Amino acid sequence: MQNRKALVIFSGGQDSTTCLLQAIADYGRENVETISFQYGQRHAIELEKAKWIAEDLGVKQTVIDTSVIKQTTNNALIDDSQEITATKETDYPNTFVDGRNMLFLLLAGCYAKQQDICDIIIGVCETDFSGYPDCRDIFIKSMNVSMNLAMDYNFNLITPLMYLTKAQTWEMADKLGYLDYVRKYTHTCYYGVDGGCGKCPSCILRDNGLTDYLSHSN
Ligand SMILES: [Zn+2]
Repeated sequence: MQNRKALVIFSGGQDSTTCLLQAIADYGRENVETISFQYGQRHAIELEKAKWIAEDLGVKQTVIDTSVIKQTTNNALIDDSQEITATKETDYPNTFVDGRNMLFLLLAGCYAKQQDICDIIIGVCETDFSGYPDCRDIFIKSMNVSMNLAMDYNFNLITPLMYLTKAQTWEMADKLGYLDYVRKYTHTCYYGVDGGCGKCPSCILRDNGLTDYLSHSN
């Protein structure tokens, strides 16, 4: 993949950081850049971590303001007054934001084309708990076709984590030599607790995956 470039959709969480590390290994640091989206997330800590990691790893980060999404959604990931739940009453946790990944991919595509980048990497995964419709492989493939038609360009949407469990995502970081780095520096907690609250769906998924991986890796 000499001289081929990649754009990583980057939130500073475990998944996108692991994707970024893999991309650096595959494409070379100088051929990788990141794009992050600011949309009124509950806590600024998420973006601060993303900024710190991008700088630390020596890759360019472009931050795009997508706070317009607040005008069309009422959601726990954005609205501080709502409690986060992952109940069985609804199909998805109330952290789901309609159209979010579609918007992110579209904007990432607009940016990537300007930079002559075809490969766009996103850390979505359909294996784990969430069941978000815009994390499914069929959506990504459909979006890939739509973006290529809309912009007359050969985008290649890449989803390295699509069929991995959280334990396997930890394994991926470990094989890249970054297990401790991802543990220490990435942010995943829905409540914005530095180091994780240990109680929200995101922390539980992350912690269980790590426990699972560590129990099998020795
Ligand atoms: Zn948490």
